[in-house]
Amino acid sequence: MPERRATQPGDSAQLCLSCGLCCDGSLFARGEIERASAETWQRRGLDCAESDGRAFFLQRCACLDGTACSLFATGRPAICERFRCVPLRELEAGQKSLERSRETIERAVRLRGEVRSASHAAGVSFRNFLHLKDELAAAFVTRADGSDHDAIAGALVALARFNAFAEAELLPDDEGDQLSKL
Ligand code: SF4
Ligand code: SF4
Repeated sequence: MPERRATQPGDSAQLCLSCGLCCDGSLFARGEIERASAETWQRRGLDCAESDGRAFFLQRCACLDGTACSLFATGRPAICERFRCVPLRELEAGQKSLERSRETIERAVRLRGEVRSASHAAGVSFRNFLHLKDELAAAFVTRADGSDHDAIAGALVALARFNAFAEAELLPDDEGDQLSKL
């Protein structure tokens, strides 16, 4: 039975400010913007690029300040205004309390931390999780002497745990390809 409750003002902001997963490269590698507006967004601080005639800003987003968006007051890309992860949707629909939604986000944030720590321990740097698996695999091959192989394997396991949790608990099915998923 869904847990119905009235959403309180500020609940959504509280949840998002404890998170930042949809901005920091954990869930997405890029978000689509209008080609005509790419220069403007670049001037406003986003790191923009084109691919196959489409324009994107890259993640980890250059406008993320801690867990807050530095463009929030002056206007974000439409895709950012629109995106809602599953826990946020459930919160706003009154299907889950702030506490229950926060439990899901806290678990995801813990798993994100494990990926970051394990990757740093393996000496692999990354901009987002989308390409991290390839970077870890490449490091495994190039360190032929076996150095760091245990650390790299640990990072791959942590990444697989995070990705499985994100697919099951965070990512909605209806975002199309404007946001590149895991
Ligand atoms: S992943 Fe969800 S809770 Fe986290 S910042 Fe994005 S929309 Fe908010
Ligand atoms: S512009 Fe703001 S909301 Fe959009 S990805 Fe960057 S930090 Fe997040």
